[in-house]
Amino acid sequence: MTEGGRTLKLALVGLGKIARDQHLPAIEATPGARLAAIASRHAGLDGLPCYPTIDALLAAEPGIDAVTLCTPPDRRFAQALAALDAGKHLMLEKPPGATLAEVAALGRRAAAAGVTLFATWHSREAAAVGPARRWLAGREIRSARITWKEDVRHWHPGQGWIWEPGGLGVFDPGINALSIATAILPDPLLVARSALHFPSNRATPIAAEVDMVTAAGAPVAMELDWRQTGPQTWDISVETDDGALTLSKGGAVLTIDGAEQLAEPDEEYRRLYARFVELVAAGESDVDMSPLMLVADAFLVGRRHVVEPFFDAPEMAT
Ligand code: NAP
Repeated sequence: MTEGGRTLKLALVGLGKIARDQHLPAIEATPGARLAAIASRHAGLDGLPCYPTIDALLAAEPGIDAVTLCTPPDRRFAQALAALDAGKHLMLEKPPGATLAEVAALGRRAAAAGVTLFATWHSREAAAVGPARRWLAGREIRSARITWKEDVRHWHPGQGWIWEPGGLGVFDPGINALSIATAILPDPLLVARSALHFPSNRATPIAAEVDMVTAAGAPVAMELDWRQTGPQTWDISVETDDGALTLSKGGAVLTIDGAEQLAEPDEEYRRLYARFVELVAAGESDVDMSPLMLVADAFLVGRRHVVEPFFDAPEMAT
């Protein structure tokens, strides 16, 4: 519920893959929130007012309390400002912006407007992330390894924006791994060096190796690859002074010293919306830029390598 126990009237902007796969069912399942309108350049939803732009939506629907942006990160800043300036609470899909300065500016604007800004990291809501953080707290981290390998054609079919500047390339899923690592490891992470593999016809990397170190000096190696077909890999392994932990399936499964502890259903987006409702009710914001800072640093210190061109249809590569 919002202030006074009222149901939060939500508007959703950008009816793409993640909006349809996750946001619509999660809003439907969230007590205290109701989808009241959408803005989409192409699509509509039966029974809901739909506007071509966020500006048209805000002008026509003054009763909206909050906006969720599911548009690509490099197109989102003006939409976010419009929502905040209209006095709406704002939830951002990950990553929260195309640049660090943008996100900081949104945080200041939300504070000035007295509204909630929630920069979401859905992977942090995976079932085993909280238990992993609690198990690691108080243990000495010796080393960690992040392996995030998936098939870009399956997860981002035909999405041109991920290959454009600001689209992050393989760091679009990689930032999910970093959002988990920064949540479970007790010390902050620093990027030491990175190798970025750019297809010769694209502006963002298809693979990367990033060497990091915790502030306490433990090495953390990350390998990202978007060219993996067959079984997909979203694993984080941590060696400590008192046992080893692996988070697999993107944070859904926890294994400690070889024994599986947890394998729970995916509730990530329901948890995000429950948290958004709570934040609004409490008059608070939640904006953690640390995963985006690590991505920015990986680009800052990255050595560029050119690899074979990438085409959405594999047959075009031959
Ligand atoms: P998508 O399928 O390309 O959808 C993005 C939507 O944004 C488009 O369908 C479009 O909706 C709207 N849009 C507005 N201006 C646009 C523009 N200039 N170019 C392209 N689209 C524009 O992308 P997505 O996978 O849903 O990803 C959106 C955000 O969610 C990204 O930040 C991504 O990192 C995050 N996310 C994605 C996934 C995933 O598995 N795909 C998972 C978690 C998070 P309209 O046609 O309705 O205007």
